[in-house]
Amino acid sequence: MTTTTNNNAIDAARVELLLSELRLPSMRLRWATLAEQSDKEGWPAARFLATLIEHEVADRSCRRMERHLAEARLPAGKTLATFDFEAVPMVSKAQVMALASGDAWLEKGANILLFGPPGGGKSHLSAALGLALVENGWRVLFTRTTDLVQQLQVARRELALENAITKLDRYDLLILDDLAYVTKDQAETSVLFELIAARYERRSMLITANQPFGEWGKIFPDQAMTLAAIDRLVHHSTILEMNVESYRRREAIDRKRGRGKPPAFATRNKLEKAKTD
Ligand code: ADP
Ligand code: MG
Repeated sequence: MTTTTNNNAIDAARVELLLSELRLPSMRLRWATLAEQSDKEGWPAARFLATLIEHEVADRSCRRMERHLAEARLPAGKTLATFDFEAVPMVSKAQVMALASGDAWLEKGANILLFGPPGGGKSHLSAALGLALVENGWRVLFTRTTDLVQQLQVARRELALENAITKLDRYDLLILDDLAYVTKDQAETSVLFELIAARYERRSMLITANQPFGEWGKIFPDQAMTLAAIDRLVHHSTILEMNVESYRRREAIDRKRGRGKPPAFATRNKLEKAKTD
């Protein structure tokens, strides 16, 4: 009896040691409880082993998702569930939900272009899409366009631009928020073009901008490069136009009027008309 107990204790110590050597923290944490249950209920060895490994796999995928969520740097609290699609009737909820799975477009490096005036929900919708994609196993980076351009400019000065762009390949999707806010001195270098050209047909981008193309001449060094950039971006792309009044402003106005949900711009005109008719 004493010998058995001793042997058990030695086995237990070996298991602990080996599992930590193999870096299997979840199995290390759970094996003892599970072994006890398995002994008590007379499980076949294969069932015990499979159940134990399943825990490691599940926890690992949980940890991976947490890592991907942290690296994505998504603005907090912007989800598809809290996005009011009725406020943007020109954007189809079904289409956005299909995009949120990522399968059809991220695999071939296609893009999304989101246009609309300030406050219309571009950042919210792109962050929400980003979050859904991370939850579906994709890797995403959300960044203000000027921040990323600045980083790439620094890399370029250090002769490490190519390396920096290659590092971004790890992300299935780059969300560049507010393209229009790229400053003049940033536009004089071609780092943004280099990024777009490098990702073309390989890795996806989601770009938000106030203006569809009209003002893009200010973002690239010259007209030829502007056209080349637009050409690559739109070649495989979904364009969503969110031509609505500022959501915040509408919310404020609607609160004042004691109404519930803010209607879309077009609907509002109809409502106003109905009132004055
Ligand atoms: P944009 O990036 O187009 O300037 P934002 O996404 O920053 O606009 O939206 C401004 C604010 O209004 C944010 O707090 C956002 O969460 C909210 N908002 C905008 N559109 C919607 C919407 N359709 N449903 C819910 N919240 C919205
Ligand atoms: Mg925004």
